[in-house]
Amino acid sequence: MQARPAPYLDELNPAQRQAVETLDGPVLMLAGAGTGKTKALTARIVHLLNQGKARPNEILSVTFTNKAAREMKTRVGRMLGQAIEGMPWLGTFHAISVKLLRRHAELVGLKSNFTILDSDDQLRLMKQLVAATNIDDKRWPPRQLANVIDGWKNRAITPDRVPAAEAGAYNHEGPRLYAEYQARLKELNAVDFGDLLLHCVTIFQTHEDVLAQYQRWFRYILVDEYQDTNVAQYLWLRLLAAGHRNICCVGDDDQSIYGWRGAEVGNILRFEKDFPGAHVVRLEQNYRSTPHILAAASSVIAGNESRLGKTLWTDADDGEKVRLIGHWDGDEEARWIGEELESMQKGTRGMRAFSLDDCAILVRASHQMRAFEDRFLTIGLPYRVIGGPRFYERMEIRDAMAYFRLVTSPEDDLAFERIVNVPKRGLGDKAQQTIQRIARDRGVTLVDGARIAVAEEAIKGKGGAALRVLVDDLARWGRLVGSADLTHMELAEQILDESGYTAMWQNDKTPEAPGRLENLKELVKALEGFENLQGFLEHVSLVMDNETDDGGAKVSVMTLHAAKGLEFPAVFLPGWEDGLFPSQRSMDEQGLKGLEEERRLAYVGITRAEEVCTISFAGNRRVFGQWQSQMPSRFIDELPEAHVEVLTPPGLYGGGYGAAGMAASASPEIMARQMSDIDDRAQRADVYNSPGWRRLQARSTERPMSQPRESRNQVIDLEAVSAYVIGERVFHQKFGYGAVAGIEGDKVEVDFEKAGTKKVVARFICAADD
Ligand code: ATP
Ligand code: MG
Repeated sequence: MQARPAPYLDELNPAQRQAVETLDGPVLMLAGAGTGKTKALTARIVHLLNQGKARPNEILSVTFTNKAAREMKTRVGRMLGQAIEGMPWLGTFHAISVKLLRRHAELVGLKSNFTILDSDDQLRLMKQLVAATNIDDKRWPPRQLANVIDGWKNRAITPDRVPAAEAGAYNHEGPRLYAEYQARLKELNAVDFGDLLLHCVTIFQTHEDVLAQYQRWFRYILVDEYQDTNVAQYLWLRLLAAGHRNICCVGDDDQSIYGWRGAEVGNILRFEKDFPGAHVVRLEQNYRSTPHILAAASSVIAGNESRLGKTLWTDADDGEKVRLIGHWDGDEEARWIGEELESMQKGTRGMRAFSLDDCAILVRASHQMRAFEDRFLTIGLPYRVIGGPRFYERMEIRDAMAYFRLVTSPEDDLAFERIVNVPKRGLGDKAQQTIQRIARDRGVTLVDGARIAVAEEAIKGKGGAALRVLVDDLARWGRLVGSADLTHMELAEQILDESGYTAMWQNDKTPEAPGRLENLKELVKALEGFENLQGFLEHVSLVMDNETDDGGAKVSVMTLHAAKGLEFPAVFLPGWEDGLFPSQRSMDEQGLKGLEEERRLAYVGITRAEEVCTISFAGNRRVFGQWQSQMPSRFIDELPEAHVEVLTPPGLYGGGYGAAGMAASASPEIMARQMSDIDDRAQRADVYNSPGWRRLQARSTERPMSQPRESRNQVIDLEAVSAYVIGERVFHQKFGYGAVAGIEGDKVEVDFEKAGTKKVVARFICAADD
């Protein structure tokens, strides 16, 4: 076949070109972030097609996400200058495996129309199996069994091959239950996610003819993000590639961030052994980021001991230094980022103007998103959450809110339906139909229907007893709404605890459970911004109403994990605090493994930025209404001073980092020096907690960097109480002017001129400056 001209090759540097043009034999492209690995991989597909080496359906190309697969397809079409007729084998490991398995299901005892179970179904099955044994499922939660089995599947271990050393798993019943679980799945003609890969590997290993057929078929194999493959994926690839040996893997050992899910960075390091004679291409020129950003990323990752070590360079202009900013608390951090994004759209601090589409906020933990979402909704800044639902759409948040709604408005039947059997109370479909019928017949709400059902003993047994408890609880919580004895935050916590909802997640051993508990804590924290539960619920319903996608520019919010492979002109990296990032778990763990994975995550984060990278941390975060002081992340100490500019936190007029004896100056250079002068991390944390800093924050009326919309309230928001003195004149939005008569916790007693003496939440008043 006559080769067509190849303009796409002109866009590549010599090393990339080599990787693209070495079409036959194994190729490994091992290179740092932004060096054009994905670009070269895409060009390689185009080149294969262009050279007539393979037809589109003879190329197996594995990406990490479906989104990446779609993008790659589009790019191939664009580079080729023509639409390609389908690339059926371009997708994620799972998507490709489903296709393979449907063709050969009978070889593993399935029918080709097998169903794929989600994790809920999977767990339900495990529970049934555990229930049939005499295992105490309180001590040995079925979730744990699910994790053990997933772990084995990630490592391509079938029930008959569980290593002797792991025979003790799940109270010594793990291996047997694994076998039973697999048998049960077969009866149901079902697979779980882990099976998709595992069954393919089994088929390849046991049916040479089938394997040989695919080995012949897939002339070329390409894999992106190879550093994050697990053992099952690795075997899958190695088996398929053993025929032609035309496999090209690209990856970066420094970006291996899925060790917690069974990924083995060793796979990439072993490539040359697995494929002797492999052509190894190293790319060193980074095309994504400015030198400052690159220097910061390189300096952080240098802290890892176990790595190959690479050099990265760029010929881009210096650009902005990496910006570092400390905030008083998490809300202030969200507020500042909101303001900064607004200014950046017009161009600020000598930088060009950025569209919101150019900007991303990358968080370590999904619960961090709430503060940003709330803030952006308040100021009307469009945003999208990538790789997961928005905060108020999450299951646990909707459940919790349903409880709150029901307590404040008992006629909310939808809320009742949502929580009546969450957590499980033995109130299944039948019991719920009884309640529905009673309510309908008598023309009352479901809560009243439930009350009648209890009184008339219409539901028998365990369910009936549980319903009585629920009905009584709802009535009692209802009476506590607006009570002087406890705040609405305390009431919310009480509801979540007493209903068993919190316990439900505490007893849940899935990897998602800790995140859900964090989100619940975050929800209670969000309540602090409102005077009562109703006010909060109103806010959320307004917020939720605001959903439609108008196609306009939006800032992206996502976790660092979801950001892999992506790039944005401007990136914000908030929450760089020990315990959050690096995570507490990684810090508590013995050895460096967890911490090194966190550091790689930091590297991934910084290297997403093209032009502007802004790292921030908060001195305090509030958890359940309690201040918790945070220490700046150890990764901040690893940033190279010469490439970092420390920005002045808002609310600090011409100050250094607080009143800890530092000279006052607003100059960023001096700030940077002051910052680095405080070597002792504990001392740095003290600075944030010093009364001087608090006073400065609370009293500041000058906002040197940008003018917030609600500067009046904001001054108080920062931490109000200590700022007031008895007799001080204050203003409340509803009650007007008054004088402070007393201070109690976060409440202030005010003698209002018109409304009389009232106790109000401090953050709802501000100093009357007129
Ligand atoms: P990551 O490790 O983060 O996945 P990567 O190595 O896959 O990064 P790419 O995403 O392929 O890097 O490329 C980074 C950026 O550099 C992209 O915007 C890409 O278009 C650009 N780029 C890559 N190679 C070149 C080149 N030779 N000339 C100009 N720009 C390039
Ligand atoms: Mg890439």
